[in-house]
Amino acid sequence: MKAFTYLSPKTVEEAIDFHGQHSETAKYMGGGTDVIVKLKDGWMEPDFLISLKKIKILNELHKNDATGELSIGAMVTHATLEKSLMIQKEYPIIHDAVSNIGSLQVRNVGTIGGNLINAVPSADGAIPLIALDGTALLEGPGGERSVEVKDLFVGPYKTILNPGEILKKITIPPQAPHTGSAYIKFGRRAAMELPLVGIGVLLTLDKNCKICTRARICLGVAAPTPMRAYDAEKWLTGKQIDEATLIEAGNIAADESKVRDSVRGKAWHRKEMIRVQVKRMGLKCLEMIKNNK
Ligand SMILES: Cc1cc2nc3c(=O)[nH]c(=O)nc-3n(C[C@H](O)[C@H](O)[C@H](O)COP(=O)(O)OP(=O)(O)OC[C@H]3O[C@@H](n4cnc5c(N)ncnc54)[C@H](O)[C@@H]3O)c2cc1C
Repeated sequence: MKAFTYLSPKTVEEAIDFHGQHSETAKYMGGGTDVIVKLKDGWMEPDFLISLKKIKILNELHKNDATGELSIGAMVTHATLEKSLMIQKEYPIIHDAVSNIGSLQVRNVGTIGGNLINAVPSADGAIPLIALDGTALLEGPGGERSVEVKDLFVGPYKTILNPGEILKKITIPPQAPHTGSAYIKFGRRAAMELPLVGIGVLLTLDKNCKICTRARICLGVAAPTPMRAYDAEKWLTGKQIDEATLIEAGNIAADESKVRDSVRGKAWHRKEMIRVQVKRMGLKCLEMIKNNK
C-alpha cells in the first residue's frame, strides 16, 4: 500500500479546505470499509486521506418531533441505525436494509454516507432512503445544495458529487399515517453477501386503510444504479391493494427492471425474485398498517 498522510478535520469547512489544498491527490474517508480495501489492492492511491470521523454534526441521528423530519448524518454507522429503537419502530425499511449489511464488524464502522457515495448498484442503504423520499444535503467549495437521494447516482461508482463535495446528511420527510415499508436483500447466503437483488416497498393507504395513496417500489442490482419501478408504483396508486394487485405490481416491476447476468446471478433469476418479493414485501406493508391501526 502506498504511503499517505492522514488528515482528521473537526469541521466540514476544514475538510473541504484540506481537499481544496490537495484536490488531485486527496480522498475523503467515512468508515473506510470500501476505501481501505481499495487502498490495499492498489485501486486507489491518494497522497492525503481525509477522515470525516471527527466531524460531530456528520455523526448525528435525530428525529424532529415537532416537524416529523428525520435527519441522518452521513457518518452515522449501519450499527447505530440498526440498534435505534426509533428506526426499528418508525422506519422498518431502514432497519431491514442496514441490519443485513456485511457483518457486525462492517456495520460497526461502515456509514450510511459511504454506502451512498460508493454508489454500487447493490448498495443496501440506498433503497430505503429512496423509498422514503430522502434528500441528500451536500456541501463543497461552491456552498451547499440539496438533491433527492434517487438522483445522486449516475452509474456504478459514479455520483453527481463535484470534486471536494461532502455528503452531510440525509433528511426524510414526515411519514403519513397508515404507511408500511419493508426491504429484502435477496442473496444466496444470510451474511457477508451482497444482494442478488434488493427489493424495497413502501405503501401508504388512505384514512380508511383501503386505497393506496402512495407507492414506492425501489430495486437494487436491477439496473446500473438503484432504481424506482415507476410503472409498478403507478399501477398500485389509487387502487385497493390486495394480493392480486401486488402480484401484478411484481410483474410490472420485473418487466421494467434492467437486470443483467453477472458472476453472482442470472438475469432471469433476478427477475423472478423481483416478481415474487414485490408481492411479499407489499403484503408485509399491509400487515404493518393493519397492526398499527
Ligand atoms: C466485507 C464487506 C462486506 C460488505 N457488505 C455489504 C453489504 O452487504 N451491503 C452493502 O451495501 N455494502 C456492503 N459493503 C460495502 C461497504 O461496507 C458499505 O458500502 C459501507 O456503507 C461503506 O461505508 P464507509 O463509511 O465504510 O465508506 P468508505 O469506505 O469510507 O467510503 C466509500 C466512498 O464514499 C466516499 N465517502 C464516504 N463518506 C463520504 C461523505 N460523507 N461525503 C463524500 N464522500 C464520502 C469515500 O471517498 C469513498 O469513495 C461491504 C464491504 C465489505 C468490506
